[in-house]
Amino acid sequence: MTAVLSVPVQDERPDTDDLTWFRFGDINPMTGAPYVASRFAELPAYAANVVRGTRLSPEQWDALVAAGGASAVPGIGGWHALAGWRAEVNSRDYDNPPADVCGDCFGTCVTADIDGSITGTVGEPFLCFCAQGALAQVGR
Ligand SMILES: [Zn+2]
Repeated sequence: MTAVLSVPVQDERPDTDDLTWFRFGDINPMTGAPYVASRFAELPAYAANVVRGTRLSPEQWDALVAAGGASAVPGIGGWHALAGWRAEVNSRDYDNPPADVCGDCFGTCVTADIDGSITGTVGEPFLCFCAQGALAQVGR
């Protein structure tokens, strides 16, 4: 079983331009549909981690998505922080990204704020530039 990262969640909307949080009503950059309408296998790791934290199996999640009921799962609502991914995003070798994926996030949709110019904190995880087009679709 994969370990579940404990990440903060809050009900109130962070600053509009705060890219260090996501919600399940946002567009999943992997699919172009909301996270809450995405099968488990289509979720980026940070969203799949939240689903694991609900103790639903991937199959149970997929069944709820198919039935349109995933947004009602306890623990899914609100804003979820990406802060728990700090160690992972800062452990990458950004000078040698894998081929055929975004070199900033390695295809995970989360990257590190190398110089603090995006989030104000050096090394802070944030939604990658390659994923930000999806945010515009939900008015962020
Ligand atoms: Zn990227």
